[in-house]
Amino acid sequence: MQLDDVAIPVENVLGAVGKGHKVAMCTLNLGRMKMSANCAGTAKKILATTTQYATERRQFGHPIADFGLIQRKLADMASRAYAAESVAYRTSGLVYHALEDTDGMGPPTLDDKLNTLTEFSAECAMAKVFTSEAYNALADEALQVFGGYGFSEEYSPARMYRDSRITRIYEGTNEICRLYAQRAMLRRAWKGDLDFDSAIEALSAEAPNGGLEALQHADSNWGFEPIASGIRDLKKIYFYLVQAVSEGIEKDRMFDADNQQYMASLADVAIEIFGAESTYLRVAKHKLAGAPGSDLAEALARICFQRSVERIGSEANEILSALAEHGDLRSHLDHISKWLPLPAGLIETRAFVARSVLDIGGLPASMT
Ligand SMILES: Cc1cc2nc3c(=O)[nH]c(=O)nc-3n(C[C@H](O)[C@H](O)[C@H](O)COP(=O)(O)OP(=O)(O)OC[C@H]3O[C@@H](n4cnc5c(N)ncnc54)[C@H](O)[C@@H]3O)c2cc1C
Repeated sequence: MQLDDVAIPVENVLGAVGKGHKVAMCTLNLGRMKMSANCAGTAKKILATTTQYATERRQFGHPIADFGLIQRKLADMASRAYAAESVAYRTSGLVYHALEDTDGMGPPTLDDKLNTLTEFSAECAMAKVFTSEAYNALADEALQVFGGYGFSEEYSPARMYRDSRITRIYEGTNEICRLYAQRAMLRRAWKGDLDFDSAIEALSAEAPNGGLEALQHADSNWGFEPIASGIRDLKKIYFYLVQAVSEGIEKDRMFDADNQQYMASLADVAIEIFGAESTYLRVAKHKLAGAPGSDLAEALARICFQRSVERIGSEANEILSALAEHGDLRSHLDHISKWLPLPAGLIETRAFVARSVLDIGGLPASMT
């Protein structure tokens, strides 16, 4: 649709004349933030539906919920849904608190809203990617738990699967959101709004946490170990990779089409850290408040953290093996291996989560 020479009443103009692009982009940021809540809520609903089916469907003389592989799926689904909800809470909290703080003089103006949404545009894009991919993963596993019935339109998973699929496409495809988020963070770092330089310097100084809060606004230096220290180490890997990419690719070619794979891998590392840290921060608050159910929350965070560690290790391999000379690759991999947390055994953790999910019928609606 093209609008040309259309008269608009003055009172209907949004923002300044000629600056409509900023309003349009901020509408996308807001849409991405809201979508993260939508994806997280639907993911929880899918978990509840799947849990109920698993207790009703019987095979080999048992409800399929008795089988370890179905329990494993329920536990993984629960941890993804919980992590998605944590990301949605954190992102909307960042935006709403920033709007409350704009000037303390009444409701925020349109400019306040646009500036806040611009400031958190990387978080909104990362939240959209993380939560929509969690929602898609849940829809896929729900269909698998329903078996052949899941494939039939007469049962709910077929609809869940189709509905989940669009969330990776609209409000900016997940490819575009990945590129956007990484570019926004690098541009802010180049402008001096994010302190990537101190974080990169701290890598060689081995300072415990110097500058590493630059990636996000919250510091995870509180709560339960070893996830707290693990997240700090994952941030070191992110900055190590940013440094490697910055040394390997000229700054003015960084966003070229043929360098998109590097940008998307960096974005994936940042998105995984954002997801794991948001989940961890929520559980740490839960524990500090002494709220009931903190054992379940901690187990969910452990599964989420392990998934992020695996993804980050794989993306780091992609970047370093492409950039490093053959002889250097081993030393790069040795360097980051000291920051890559050791795998945690999750078989017992998943069994515990599955038992809780089966007892409750999903995740508790009111989990802190
Ligand atoms: C059900 C539905 C509802 C929708 N609702 C709305 C709405 O309310 N408002 C609205 O404005 N739009 C809406 N859309 C449109 C939606 O936002 C677009 O479909 C989406 O942005 C992708 O654009 P496209 O379909 O033209 O795909 P294309 O741009 O053709 O993309 C095709 C593929 O190429 C990739 N790609 C494209 N450009 C690049 C690039 N530069 N670098 C790397 N990869 C790239 C994409 O990620 C994608 O994988 C809706 C779409 C659907 C299906």
